[in-house]
Amino acid sequence: MNFLKGLIDLFFPEICIYCNQNLVKTEKIICTFCEAQLPVSDNESFTENKIIKSLWGRVNIEFAAYYLNFKKGGITQQILHFLKYKNRKDIGIFYGKRLGFMIINEKFIKEVDYIVPVPLHKTKLRKRGYNQSAEISKGLCEVLKIPVLENNLIRISNTQTQTRKKRFERWTNVSTNFIVKNPALFEDKNLLLVDDVFTTGATIEACCQPLININNVKIGLVFLAVAG
Ligand SMILES: [Zn+2]
Repeated sequence: MNFLKGLIDLFFPEICIYCNQNLVKTEKIICTFCEAQLPVSDNESFTENKIIKSLWGRVNIEFAAYYLNFKKGGITQQILHFLKYKNRKDIGIFYGKRLGFMIINEKFIKEVDYIVPVPLHKTKLRKRGYNQSAEISKGLCEVLKIPVLENNLIRISNTQTQTRKKRFERWTNVSTNFIVKNPALFEDKNLLLVDDVFTTGATIEACCQPLININNVKIGLVFLAVAG
């Protein structure tokens, strides 16, 4: 098997998803040169940052963290693109672990009961074959040793792809897209919601609507990337 793997590597070496250079054995997903340029967040505060502030007055968030800054055309965009559209689940797991190491010592994280990936609508899930946020969650789970709970938070309507809608349109159907199947499961729990990217916060706000009505739920957020 190792021989076969070696042969495959010889003809189809893994390449950096950003600059297309061949990767050496110790490199994963991107090469060392691109790695050095990764716009990693400084996460100056996990309890009062731009994510939490942009959700003020919309939903109460205890904790928020992200790994990368998003800039159009940059490495982060390429990472998200491969994770979502090129069947690269490994990217979600890999950066999920990085996120995990970034937040493992935080007070809120030590009290989290469940990691909850933002769900896809079932039609989209069928089409893509996997939920990228669930892949990030697997990486987080591996590092944080906190269980992932899928299928209790459900996405019910299949809206157009976010990026194709204008900001205004995105605001209009907030709160209609998510339901909680069994609210008792989330009662008195600290939840860590996971998504690939945070832009306007409309998805997360919609996601939180059915959660904030549940008795004594506390919500933290993690994203692979944040735009703006
Ligand atoms: Zn590279």
